[in-house]
Amino acid sequence: MRAAIWNEPGKPLVIGEVPDPSPGPRELVLRVHGCGICGSDLHVSDTTSFPPGTVMGHEFAGEVVAIGPDANAAVDGREWQLGDRVASLPAVGCARCAPCLTGDVMVCPDLQTTGLGVLPGGYAEYVRVGARESLRLPDNASFAEGALVEPLAVGLHVVDVARIAARENVLIIGAGPVGAAVAVWARHSGARSVILSDPVAPRRDLACRLGASGAIDPTSQEVLPEFERQAGAPPDVIVECVGIPGMIQHCIEVAPTRSRVIIAGVCLQPDNIVPVLGVMKELSLKFVAYYHRSDFETTIDALANERLPTREMITDRVALDAMPDAFEALKQPTTQCKVVVEP
Ligand SMILES: [Zn+2]
Ligand SMILES: [Zn+2]
Repeated sequence: MRAAIWNEPGKPLVIGEVPDPSPGPRELVLRVHGCGICGSDLHVSDTTSFPPGTVMGHEFAGEVVAIGPDANAAVDGREWQLGDRVASLPAVGCARCAPCLTGDVMVCPDLQTTGLGVLPGGYAEYVRVGARESLRLPDNASFAEGALVEPLAVGLHVVDVARIAARENVLIIGAGPVGAAVAVWARHSGARSVILSDPVAPRRDLACRLGASGAIDPTSQEVLPEFERQAGAPPDVIVECVGIPGMIQHCIEVAPTRSRVIIAGVCLQPDNIVPVLGVMKELSLKFVAYYHRSDFETTIDALANERLPTREMITDRVALDAMPDAFEALKQPTTQCKVVVEP
């Protein structure tokens, strides 16, 4: 099959041939119909040393084209059929440990991640996935929307872990796909004001169309006073969704006394903070990763009910051949939100 292949750090992906996947026990093979390009893939492709020949891509949806032995021990009781339309968690768990059995598969001690350097990912014509880790898409959801389930589940998990409650005021640092997903779910959870801070004007505009109540330009406005001006109150929660050095310190500086700082940005480098500032404000810092299977279920239910602004989130679609160029373009400052590869 054809895939976009990573060979060395900082070099563009190349389109080439890799072996066709076949399903192992409790696995399915999907024909990939949509795979979102993720900001963390952009960072990782420049800085991490995977084995040459790695296929990334962890935000995918597709159609079942092969069913492995025991795959029909599916969690929802219905048998898998060829042609089923699914989105999958980008990982295969052991299917035996307590986290796997309760849907908290991303903390399985024997977890094999998909598209993150262990199992081959979704920037390809086909991908091997776990049957337990796969969920059916509703008929009204397109595959491109199915590719949004993973990044939307990231945002839902952040809102869940942050315990964002009705009437709370939320400041989101960074209006990329993660910040946008957090904004969508914070509004769903009844937050009073959801205000994003981002230097890129089209991203701020997009965040407001997705449901944010306001936006701040941190290059020309003082973040905390501007938040208070717009919301009429200081933020209860600050969510870091950028993932570059200096952002956690920025959050600590803008955070009011006894507020919560949630770190969702994936920063791969060492980063400095001045702890005394957080100590004097008695801040709570919390890091979040991934999601629970239930975050996928809730996202898919919301897709079925057409309660998510998915059309606004997908800003471009590209064929597999055009994918390496689109991937490189996203490494530059961009106005895109989610670019979906359609192999
Ligand atoms: Zn991602
Ligand atoms: Zn497990």
